[in-house]
Amino acid sequence: MQSSIFALLLIKVQASFSFMKELKHLNKYFKKYRYKLLLGIIITVIARLFSLAVPNYVNLSIQVIENYFGGTTALSEAKQTLFLYILIIVGTALLSALFTFLMRQTIINVSRYIEYDLKNEVFDHYQILNLNFYKKNRIGDLMNRISEDINQVRMYAGPVIMYGMNTITTFVCVISIMYIKAPTLATYTLVPLPILSVLIYQISKIIHQRSTKVQEFLSSLSTFTQESFSGVSVIKAYGIEPKINEEIEVLATQGKNTSMDLAKVNAWFFPLMILLIGISNIIVIYFGGKQYLNGEIASFGLIAEFILYVNMLTWPVAIVGWLTSIVQRAEASQKRINEFLKVEPAIKNEIAEETPIVGDIEFKNVTFTYEDTHITALKNVSFKIKAGETVAFLGKTGSGKSTILDLVSRLYDVSSGEVLIDGQPIQKLNLNNLRQAIGAVPQDAFLFSDTIENNIRFGDENASFEAIVDVAKKAVVHDNIEGFTKKYNTILGERGITLSGGQKQRVSIARALLKNPKIYLFDDCLSAVDTETEEEILTNLKKVSKEKTTLIVSHRVSSAKNADHIIILEDGQIIQEGTHEQLNNIDGYYKELYINQLAEKE
Ligand code: ADP
Ligand code: MG
Repeated sequence: MQSSIFALLLIKVQASFSFMKELKHLNKYFKKYRYKLLLGIIITVIARLFSLAVPNYVNLSIQVIENYFGGTTALSEAKQTLFLYILIIVGTALLSALFTFLMRQTIINVSRYIEYDLKNEVFDHYQILNLNFYKKNRIGDLMNRISEDINQVRMYAGPVIMYGMNTITTFVCVISIMYIKAPTLATYTLVPLPILSVLIYQISKIIHQRSTKVQEFLSSLSTFTQESFSGVSVIKAYGIEPKINEEIEVLATQGKNTSMDLAKVNAWFFPLMILLIGISNIIVIYFGGKQYLNGEIASFGLIAEFILYVNMLTWPVAIVGWLTSIVQRAEASQKRINEFLKVEPAIKNEIAEETPIVGDIEFKNVTFTYEDTHITALKNVSFKIKAGETVAFLGKTGSGKSTILDLVSRLYDVSSGEVLIDGQPIQKLNLNNLRQAIGAVPQDAFLFSDTIENNIRFGDENASFEAIVDVAKKAVVHDNIEGFTKKYNTILGERGITLSGGQKQRVSIARALLKNPKIYLFDDCLSAVDTETEEEILTNLKKVSKEKTTLIVSHRVSSAKNADHIIILEDGQIIQEGTHEQLNNIDGYYKELYINQLAEKE
């Protein structure tokens, strides 16, 4: 009988170890915090040992009373001993409580440290991954793995270890004591416990499945409500409130049903536990009573002691099932985390030594195909830009202009051909040096939900406020900023002010100017700015970029005003190039653009 109980437990423990392949990733952290963990484990064992004293002294106290009624002990002596025992019981209980507190303080803290380290590890890794990775994976998924999944893993690193140690200590000590004191009674008493453990395990599994459903539902509900709140003006304008109400109704009904399903299994949990504890208690009283009457056990107090043991064991037994399901969840979560950690960045910094950048750029027969769409955005493109030159790339949307700039900052690597910076293949350059040497203003200017000042400061963390004002003036956005009540402290984004497209572009230009790089990449960054302001900015840029290599992308000829050289792209190929004068003398896209624009002006 007893061997079968242990066999069952062993199978459980083994089952939970064999699928812990992914969780091995955490070993380095366990190693890092090994002393703290060891201390925590020692404290756990001490806490349990103290709590073990209680049942024994309850038994002894009852024996004192028994002896008093049996006439073998005098009243005063009995009172004195009882008082002593009560002191011991209270004292050990207090000590056990103190150590239980310390146990949580050490082990749960370790799990928080591990959570912190793991989050940093994952985030650092996210940062070195390339744009392709971000295209393939949804933002929500990235967020989930760094928050929800790491949280599941933390449950393994903390509570599982703590309760696991607790359970093992309690099992070993309590069961040994029970067998030493009354082996037959011990065996009878322990029978229901493995059943309890298996049942709790099954129930936890169902609870987990159903709570996952509730979670999924909650996230779809919040997506839906969020969308309807942000799109409230469209909903009102089109008068579709009733339709939205209906959709919410459907979602809410689904939510109610999934929550009810969960509540139904949850409701089983405690009654089952109480039932099984009750059965164990009855067994103790029935068999213990019988044995006492037969004179097989010495004292009546032993029955009380065993009842306390049974109650001490039930929680750990129930928890074995719960722990197993946590380990399974943590394993699944760690697997998802490892999947991302295993992704090698296609472009990484392999050059350790510093490679200062001067600013010559050359494309040699460059062809580039986007991995996900298989669109060949550049076909056999070649050009040369000397350091300090300004070159404009003109062409319709989709002609490959932005792709050229992305290749210069090495956000992607070419499919064939070569990009050379200062005569060196771009792969031979220190990636950090390269990116530091570039001030890019992307086509879709992105500003963080922060103050305007900090958004500009992004270009150079140590810049003075005067420097920020100076670049804002050059980007012709200073007057707009001064117009806001909080000026440079105006918060942008969701909870702040929304800038117009043109203002965003100019803040973004100011950011690039502050960086004072060797190479400027301006991607259609004046598209939302009126022609007068454009003139003003271009004049300022001309001064600023005198000794900088400057690549200006635009679909307007006016933006190319200061360019030494103009390259016209169509469908990923260079169709014309030359200076303004050269291009003016030939028919083609440039002329077409130029004439269109003159017409636009009038
Ligand atoms: P432009 O800047 O001249 O408008 P792009 O360089 O952005 O042109 O785009 C060139 C072509 O590559 C387009 O056909 C576009 O659809 C495609 N493309 C651009 N960016 C991506 C991307 N990130 N993934 C897949 N295809 C892209
Ligand atoms: Mg573009």
